Amino acid sequence: MAGPIREIITFSCTECKRRNYTSTKNKRTKQERLEFKKYCPFCRTHTLHRETK
Ligand SMILES: [Zn+2]
Repeated sequence: MAGPIREIITFSCTECKRRNYTSTKNKRTKQERLEFKKYCPFCRTHTLHRETK
């Protein structure tokens, strides 16, 4: 496969630990762990979602 190395990453809710979102990132440009405030359907509110393996 040609092109930039893209890694599929999963975001899990820091409150209930459920995995709610997936995304991809370019490993060359994004080295740090990502965190996003996202809506968690299980907590039924916006919570912090953290990149997980
Ligand atoms: Zn949650």
